[in-house]
Amino acid sequence: MKAIVYNNPWDIRIEEKEEPAIILPDEVIVEIRATGICGTDLSIISGEYLARPQVIIGHESAGVIVEKGKGVDNCNVGDRVIIDPTFYCGYCDNCRKGLRNHCLLKSTTEAGVSIDGTFTRYFKTTQRFIYGLHDNIPFEQGAMSEPLSCVLTAVKKLAVNPFMRTAILGGGPIGLLFYMALKQHGIQEGVIYETSKNRIKLIEQNNVLSKGWQVAPEFIPQKNQYDLIIDTTGSLLEKSMLAIADGGKISLMGLRNNQQTINPREIADRSISIIGSIDSQDTFKHAVDLINSGRLELEKIITNGYSLNDFTTAVKDLGCDVGSKQRNNNISSLKSFISIT
Ligand SMILES: [Zn+2]
Ligand SMILES: [Zn+2]
Repeated sequence: MKAIVYNNPWDIRIEEKEEPAIILPDEVIVEIRATGICGTDLSIISGEYLARPQVIIGHESAGVIVEKGKGVDNCNVGDRVIIDPTFYCGYCDNCRKGLRNHCLLKSTTEAGVSIDGTFTRYFKTTQRFIYGLHDNIPFEQGAMSEPLSCVLTAVKKLAVNPFMRTAILGGGPIGLLFYMALKQHGIQEGVIYETSKNRIKLIEQNNVLSKGWQVAPEFIPQKNQYDLIIDTTGSLLEKSMLAIADGGKISLMGLRNNQQTINPREIADRSISIIGSIDSQDTFKHAVDLINSGRLELEKIITNGYSLNDFTTAVKDLGCDVGSKQRNNNISSLKSFISIT
């Protein structure tokens, strides 16, 4: 089967890989129909997030069960399913502390990072990591369960309330999923800052935001401006510190390598919380339920679809140019998908 394989930073290729086979009774094989391109994939390609050489990348997926082991009783061949790609063992010290998103086996079990992922036709997992996808919900939307579950985990940790003056830094898929999740939590007003003109245009054209929310091009921090700042860019902590109100919360979720300078005294003196979050912790089912409900209007943010052969074009359209080995702000999509038919 054809697959997108990571070799080294800026070295990704389409290669032929062996199809997986059922060995254990709880295993299932999913024929992948859609996989979302995630910021993590872009950071792997650019060398900012470490992945195992020769690995098939891709992790946000939905598809159809084509084979199952003898012990699988929660799905049947032909079922439409969503895959939770973040394996946890359930036995290690972190798993036993409820930190399943920090399972100690993660460095050797993370789909699309340390084990083969889903930018290909077939993917093997176990019944524990499969959720049903309703017939009326497209595979692309089902595949957004993974990023949505990560966002829901962050929102849970932030313990938000409807009265927080809110800014989201970055109007990419994660920023827009935060917008949807915060609205579910009662935050009806806020600003999304996005520097890509194309993305602003797409957000406006597709009517993504409801009344009370707006998108703005430049984040110019003012003192005591926001109670809640969601930095999805991973590089705006210094600016966030200038705008966060006393007692405010800053959420960090972007995986970008950079150094920022902040004053610890200020964090103590002004009761500021800086809260990091990675992957999902007990929120995958919530994400699946929300997506199956069809009420998120995800179709407004899923703008671009590509075939596996067009993968380098797809990432280029997200500002990740393999040809010149550079990331830029030349972005012409909100959420992009690789679809396999
Ligand atoms: Zn992702
Ligand atoms: Zn574990």
